Amino acid sequence: MMTIDNYNFAGKKAIVRVDFNVPLNEEGKITDDTRIRGALPTLKKVLADGGALIIMSHMGKPKGKVNAKYSLSQIVEAVSEKLGVAVQFAPDCAKAAEAAAALKAGEVLLLENLRFYPEEEGKPVGIDKEDPAYNDAKKAMKESQKEFAKTLASYADCYINDAFGTAHRRHASTAVVADYFNEDSKMLGYLMEKEVQAVDNILKDIKRPFTAIMGGSKVSTKIGIIENLMDKVDNLILCGGMTYTFAKAQGGQIGKSIVEDDKLDLALNIIEQAKAKGVNLVLATDCVAADDFSNDANTQVVPVNAIPEAWEGLDAGPDAQKAFAAAIEGAKTILWNGPAGVFEFDNFTAGSRAIAEAIAKATSAGAFSLIGGGDSVACINKFGMADQVSYISTGGGALLEAIEGKVLPGVAAIKGE
Ligand code: AMP
Repeated sequence: MMTIDNYNFAGKKAIVRVDFNVPLNEEGKITDDTRIRGALPTLKKVLADGGALIIMSHMGKPKGKVNAKYSLSQIVEAVSEKLGVAVQFAPDCAKAAEAAAALKAGEVLLLENLRFYPEEEGKPVGIDKEDPAYNDAKKAMKESQKEFAKTLASYADCYINDAFGTAHRRHASTAVVADYFNEDSKMLGYLMEKEVQAVDNILKDIKRPFTAIMGGSKVSTKIGIIENLMDKVDNLILCGGMTYTFAKAQGGQIGKSIVEDDKLDLALNIIEQAKAKGVNLVLATDCVAADDFSNDANTQVVPVNAIPEAWEGLDAGPDAQKAFAAAIEGAKTILWNGPAGVFEFDNFTAGSRAIAEAIAKATSAGAFSLIGGGDSVACINKFGMADQVSYISTGGGALLEAIEGKVLPGVAAIKGE
């Protein structure tokens, strides 16, 4: 596989798929530039080696239509400033051949939002899935997606994908475009390389013991990951809102805590699977219950299986926190996805904080720790502990699918797996 460090960019044009889907305020100003900063090492490498850049990205969900609200023209200035080069703008991503051809070494062209074209996502627009003509429309769209990808490919000598956030999608710019470059002229960007390596660390090159912490609100959204991890981990902590589905499944009284009544059997099955596979399943035994879903609610610590009628568990209790920490501190590989409580309320952060602190401790003792999936990242940032873990993934859905063991189209298009 070609790598960005082995490719000679001198005199070449590189088309780079980045994730510049940054949040903007009412005035169109960027409120968080993390994603732009994330792509800079790759972009700067191409320029430093004497190449020219064609940058492409999506922003928001314009659903195949031009919409000024999602125009990437709004970020030209910020990208120019960060790259230290005056970035040119192509107002139509599918009609940028001339501008691309005119680029000289060291110059940069940013294409308008790819998702202004339905071909980017490759889904037919304006036709219902139930419509008998849907399948034909889908086939036709796949063909025009190829043409769109071919046009993008025609702008450059080589292709780099550095957009991990969309790597789980087979879109024109994330996967299909790679078909128009030979093996020696397509590669992963630095950010993608790091993400892929981090996932390999927890799925392939595992140092033991391996502790995974899955939290968040529901079992149903995490089941694919839990099942894939069951064959890999030594300790599995299941916390957050799922706690109460497990407690109820085992006959507990959970008051008005969040629960998935149709997943009680699934919860029992997970407990059985863990036993059969020799996985140490850690479930909270106590919780901080509240008499209202609010930060200012009255609270009491109670066993998870004896929560009073009108109360609900909103955080892990002190015994649970100790059990979580014990399963984390000796670990050599750690994955954390999803908070242990309603961390958005300051009074219900203790469970998540105990997890974050144990992870930081294990990391400083040499463990590899990966934090990923929106809310756990928000959590670690809220605690100001981002620099105390090994790696924070930038990909929500993409990371979760990778951990489920699914092949990511954006990675496969380059690695050929
Ligand atoms: P998810 O998107 O599934 O990872 O869930 C994250 C959300 O789960 C966060 O917004 C938390 O507030 C929420 N959450 C965690 N624990 C609980 C709980 N005990 N009750 C209700 N919501 C919870």
